Amino acid sequence: MTNQQQNDFTKWYIDTIQKADLMDYTPVRGCIAFKPDGFEIWEHIQDEMNRRFKETGHRNAYFPMLIPESFFQKEKDHIEGFAPELPWVTEAAGEKLEERLALRPTSETMIGHLYSNWIKSYRDLPVLINQWANVFRWEKKTLPFIRTSEFLWQEGHTAHVDEEEARQETMQMLNIYKEVVEELLAIPVYDGQKTPSERFAGAVDTYSIEAMMKDGKAVQAGTSHYLGTKFAEAFDIKYLNKENKHQHVHTTSWGTSTRLIGSVIMVHGDEQGLVLPPRVAPTQVVLIPVGPWKKNPAIMEKLDELYAALKAKGIRVRLDDSDQSPGYKFNEWELKGVPVRIELGPRDLENNQALIKVRDLTEKESVEIAVIVERIEEELTTMQTRLLEKARAFRDENSHTNVDSLEQLKQHLTDSTENGTIPGWILAGWCGEDACEENVKNETKFTTRNIPFNPPAEKATCINCGKDSKHTVWFGRAY
Ligand SMILES: [Zn+2]
Repeated sequence: MTNQQQNDFTKWYIDTIQKADLMDYTPVRGCIAFKPDGFEIWEHIQDEMNRRFKETGHRNAYFPMLIPESFFQKEKDHIEGFAPELPWVTEAAGEKLEERLALRPTSETMIGHLYSNWIKSYRDLPVLINQWANVFRWEKKTLPFIRTSEFLWQEGHTAHVDEEEARQETMQMLNIYKEVVEELLAIPVYDGQKTPSERFAGAVDTYSIEAMMKDGKAVQAGTSHYLGTKFAEAFDIKYLNKENKHQHVHTTSWGTSTRLIGSVIMVHGDEQGLVLPPRVAPTQVVLIPVGPWKKNPAIMEKLDELYAALKAKGIRVRLDDSDQSPGYKFNEWELKGVPVRIELGPRDLENNQALIKVRDLTEKESVEIAVIVERIEEELTTMQTRLLEKARAFRDENSHTNVDSLEQLKQHLTDSTENGTIPGWILAGWCGEDACEENVKNETKFTTRNIPFNPPAEKATCINCGKDSKHTVWFGRAY
């Protein structure tokens, strides 16, 4: 971590996203505007997700934002989980509505209602639908992109003939999330199962991918739920099987949201501002003329040529010929996290060279103009890999496997405060009792992140009570 990040990580984060022009606040508390550079990161995430969703047989559809109150009453756990966060529409066209309508926090209920009409026979299954939408969860404490009252997301809702197929779907989508977050956003994640207390309201099983930010806190970067027949029973979603018998479908749902944008910034950003993985950067390369370039038209000619050559390779390139000083422009584009900068001045041109600067490296380098396009392509690929490796090394360094009791955890927290290091996460045993999980949370603010599929070690005893452990769990503080 850099100095500013260490002093006040939240302040560093908010300053950075505002200076980089990703978002703005609005008069509606907890509801932000996504400015073009912020939104474009989301668009690249959408493109990659859509590609993978469609490859695996899913199609996009759209469902209404307003949901009748009675729909929520049908699944008991669901209403209990979401009721405190729901904003309601009670009036329209000057008249009180007969039934109040919630702004959707998620669409299981509306979709459950519709699937009961759409699904009649085994021939109608599976139903594999995804929706890109905005959802509302009225949050008391908000942080742009990470926790807002309105946010953007995708929610997949599928229906299947049986448990086996629905569980395969649940895991398939979790894997897709893991691949997209690691390969596109260069953020390493731990995949695993949520404990019962952290489950989605109404799910039989919830799985998640968990990412570590630079302050050591966790972001739940995506979840996938096996819903069993709970929603099918609540909404009467039945099909006639091959033996002509009525059966409830097994459903799944899965989601990722615009908190991924916040995660990219918190995982890769540095003192100079954003560091964007090339695959999601709105601008991948910026061209900047330097020296007395206005008196030397050959410089702009060469830059125009380079611009066209990079663009022809599908690279997202910008040419900054504004009248700001080069130094100002360098800062500006570093702040915005643009992966590669190319500088061209009179002397460079004489030597048929240009200077390149890669965002996460310190040195500039002279490169022959004749080979610069290939070189840039290479730099973008290696930077993408390097960012993932750096983030993985950081995470591993701060994933502790030697903390096995509440006392040791408290000592670990005291030590990290004294040493000015981050507490990170700990891998510990858990007996399976809610009370033990609750006590660790109350005493340390460490919550269970997930029960990893591939833990680096197996723990024999519960961190809280010392009895035999049922599960080995990641614990950490979370956003
Ligand atoms: Zn215990």
